[in-house]
Amino acid sequence: GSTIGILGGGQLGRMLALAAAPLGFKVHIYEPSADCPAAQVADRCTTAPYDDDAALDAFAASVNVVTYEFENVPTAALDRIEAVVPIRPNRRSLGISQDRLDEKTFLQGIGLKTAPFANVEDQAELDAAISQIGTPSILKTRRMGYDGKGQARLRSADDRPEVTAPSVLEGFVDFSAEISVIAARALDGAITCYDPGENVHRDGILATTTVPASLPRSLQTDAVLLAGRILNELDYVGVMGIELFVTSGGLIVNEIAPRVHNSGHWTQNGCTIDQFEQHIRAVAGWPLGDGQRHSDVVMENLIGDEVDQWQALSADSNAALHLYGKAQSRPGRKMGHVNRVSPRASKG
Ligand code: ATP
Ligand code: MG
Ligand code: MG
Repeated sequence: GSTIGILGGGQLGRMLALAAAPLGFKVHIYEPSADCPAAQVADRCTTAPYDDDAALDAFAASVNVVTYEFENVPTAALDRIEAVVPIRPNRRSLGISQDRLDEKTFLQGIGLKTAPFANVEDQAELDAAISQIGTPSILKTRRMGYDGKGQARLRSADDRPEVTAPSVLEGFVDFSAEISVIAARALDGAITCYDPGENVHRDGILATTTVPASLPRSLQTDAVLLAGRILNELDYVGVMGIELFVTSGGLIVNEIAPRVHNSGHWTQNGCTIDQFEQHIRAVAGWPLGDGQRHSDVVMENLIGDEVDQWQALSADSNAALHLYGKAQSRPGRKMGHVNRVSPRASKG
């Protein structure tokens, strides 16, 4: 049989491993911290830092292909692995999504709309960026940010947050809704998209995703077409999450994630082939499933430390509970999610 290597052992790695098993794949997780969520379900787990050359070499030699569940894998580790086995999605896709400046530059370069942005590396560049972009706006670190971390909002031109790392200043987008498209591209270039989901964030963290999204037909088509353009342009292989703002002027791309995505968790109970299986199929060189949605779903993230309460959700037969087996929680930590499922209302 074939073995898939996954860099990162969080909940996304765990759900990838769970999806790989029914297809007969073995999964080898590489993760620096012990007792990670994925280790509980994977066939094999290497616990080692990303600068342990011997561990990386042994990992690469033990697998047929490598994928990843988070964006911030150090470049040197990827170089080492790629000398031995293919990495999917490819390095260019990963590199672009690791840096908000490169990401927005790429997206505009292929004709897509983003928020107006300017590079900011020090206080003087922040001043220049504020006169160019105006306020309200958001200063975001170019690298490593997630769940709204590393962001400062500027309400007026008097707001002068400290520039602590290379950043971008982004104009505030006046959106009516946030949606995301989970798209997949196979090795042979075939593309499929799941129905766009409508996202609600709380405190910078995704709270719920609802399908179907309340979105005009024309914008649904736009969302799918722009996803296809991004994936083709990158010669992408795997699942990608694309976050979009819905505005009166059309769709604006917020960011892209070269991996399975929190806003795609609804597919686990809304589709025959979910985003995790789709990603495994793609990186293994298999044909994709078509991604048809058979149910309406509201996905709710379970955040914080009320695990006992969540177990009570299992009394509801329309609520599919997914807990990540995380031992301890801290405020804002994603502990699981629940998919509330109902029959599909229309072909809409
Ligand atoms: P993730 O966990 O999705 O990777 P992140 O830390 O990369 O999050 P963003 O997606 O950039 O953060 O921003 C988080 C949320 O903040 C967005 O979903 C949106 O609600 C809001 N937001 C971000 N940028 C803008 C913008 N330019 N205009 C308006 N709202 C924004
Ligand atoms: Mg992000
Ligand atoms: Mg985001």
